[in-house]
Amino acid sequence: DLNELAKKAVLKLEVFAKNKNQQIKYNLGEGITRLYGDEDRIEQVLLNILSNSIKYTPEGGAIEVYVEKTDSLATINIIDNGIGIPREDLPRLFERFYRVDKARSREMGGTGLGLSIAKEIIEAHEGKIQILSEEGQGTHVMITLLLLEE
Ligand code: ATP
Ligand code: MG
Repeated sequence: DLNELAKKAVLKLEVFAKNKNQQIKYNLGEGITRLYGDEDRIEQVLLNILSNSIKYTPEGGAIEVYVEKTDSLATINIIDNGIGIPREDLPRLFERFYRVDKARSREMGGTGLGLSIAKEIIEAHEGKIQILSEEGQGTHVMITLLLLEE
């Protein structure tokens, strides 16, 4: 259940957001949001994306998670008003070990594998992951998956 997984991911990471005075708002989708897939792997993706938002959003920022349902598709949106990603880096984000601004990223820790693993898992579920971002404005990650029939 995508609604449940989204909620679980928020609850698990809320404490890290609180430590940075960030607020995580979330809104779940209407109705049934179940699909056939590997629950642990999809949770891993959500934790990945959400921890990026916490990591790359300064103290006091805002993060929003909402699930949107249209017919047999559900989209999980994870939005932050953090540092954003320069336009020239957007095409390479899903490459293994790719990180924007090496020096800055090294300070923050991490390997640059999170997004490439996320993409692999989502595509293994025949889903889609997209990132919209503007430097200095924030980042919006969209994950779309096919739901089971109601
Ligand atoms: P890891 O996830 O392996 O711990 P990472 O977070 O650096 O390391 P990815 O999750 O693959 O690696 O992200 C790749 C790069 O994309 C990051 O280094 C960062 O520069 C940029 N990025 C990802 N998410 C965001 C975000 N929400 N806001 C700003 N930049 C981001
Ligand atoms: Mg990451």
